[in-house]
Amino acid sequence: MSDSSPLPITAQDLDLPAFLNELRKWVDIESPTADADAVNRMVDHVETLAKTAGFAVSRAPGTLGRGDILTVRHGPSPNPDQKGILILAHLDTVHPIGTLTGPLPWKEEGSRIYGPGIYDMKSGALMALEALKLARGCGDGPKCPVTILFVADEETGSRASRATTEAEAKNAFCVLVVEPARDGGKVVTARRGSAIYEIAVKGRAAHAGTNSQKGRSAIRAASKLVLQLEDMNDLANGIGVSVGTITGGTTRNTIPAECRFQLDVRLPDAAATEWVIPQIEALQSTEPDIEVQIEGGLTRPAFARSEAGDQLFSYAADMAQSLGYSLIGMSSGGGSDGNFTGALGIPTLDGLGPDGEGAHTHVECIYPQSVAQRTALLANLMLASPSN
Ligand SMILES: [Zn+2]
Repeated sequence: MSDSSPLPITAQDLDLPAFLNELRKWVDIESPTADADAVNRMVDHVETLAKTAGFAVSRAPGTLGRGDILTVRHGPSPNPDQKGILILAHLDTVHPIGTLTGPLPWKEEGSRIYGPGIYDMKSGALMALEALKLARGCGDGPKCPVTILFVADEETGSRASRATTEAEAKNAFCVLVVEPARDGGKVVTARRGSAIYEIAVKGRAAHAGTNSQKGRSAIRAASKLVLQLEDMNDLANGIGVSVGTITGGTTRNTIPAECRFQLDVRLPDAAATEWVIPQIEALQSTEPDIEVQIEGGLTRPAFARSEAGDQLFSYAADMAQSLGYSLIGMSSGGGSDGNFTGALGIPTLDGLGPDGEGAHTHVECIYPQSVAQRTALLANLMLASPSN
C-alpha cells in the first residue's frame, strides 16, 4: 500500500462527541478487578451495547472470583480453516470504587479528559467496538471473522482469562491489543515477560548476647541471596531482577530465624527466560542450617519481536501514514494480554488504544484528539485479510 492511497475509513467517520458521551458512561461504572459485581455491571453495559448494535455476543461466567468474559463477534466463528482478527480488551481497572467521587473525577480540561480507567483502558475498549461498527458499515465489511474479547482480570495478571485468550488466539491470523498507546502515541511491538517470587529464608533464633553461636541468621543468609539475585540484572539485554520488599527478624537482640523478600523479574525473550528462571528456582544458601523456600513463577511469557509481527507493524504504519500520522513502534517493559498471544507466535500489535498518560494514577487521562484517527486505523485493520 502506498502512502497516498486513500483508505476506506478516515478519522472523520467517527462521531467524536457521541463517542465521548458514551465513554463517560463507561468511566462512570467503576470496575476494579477485585470487585466482580462491579466489573459485571460494566460487562452488562457493554453486552447491551454490542447486542443493540447487532453483533453476536456470548458471555462466560467469571472464574477465580473474577468478572465475566464477553465475546463479541462479526461474521462466522473463526476456526483453524478460517482464521480471523482478534481484538483484546479488558473492562477492569486498578482504581477502587470511590475514585470517581474522590481523587479522580471525570474532568475535561484543555486537550485532556481525566477519569479512572479512561486511559487504561476504557477508551481503547470502546474504540474497538466503534471501529468494528465502522468496518461493518464499509462496503461488504470485514473479509474475515472479527472477534473482540473483553476480559475482566487483566490488571491482576489474567489468571482467570488466559486460557480463553489463548484459545481465541489460535483461531486468529493476527491480534490487535487496544491497551493505551505509549508516550507520543507509540504502539507496542514487543513486551517483556514477567515472573514474581516470594522467597522465605529460615534459620534458627538465639539470644544475640548470650547464645549467638547457636543461632543461624536468616537475614545474613538472605542478604547474600539478594546480592546473588541482583547480580543477574542485565539491563542492556532487557533482563531485570529486583528485590522489591524485605522483612525479617523479631527484635534487635535476637539472631533472626526468618527473612522474607519479594522478587520481580522481567524477561525479554524465551532464551533469557530459560537462563534466568531455573537459576532462581534452584536458589540455595551456602550458609549452614539455612532453608530457602521459593514460591511463585512466570506470570506472563515474553512477547518478543518476530518477522511476522514486524510485517503487521509495517502494514499498520503504512495505513497510519495514509491517515496522516506516523506510527512508531517500541518495546515495553510492562505486560499485557498481548504477551500471551505474542508468545504463541501469533503476529500481535499492542498499544493501539488512545494516546494519554498517567495510567494507574490519580492523573490518568486521554488526549481525545488522538481517538478518531486511532479508531480509524483499527477499523481499517479490521478490513484486512490473512493475505495482507
Ligand atoms: Zn490495561
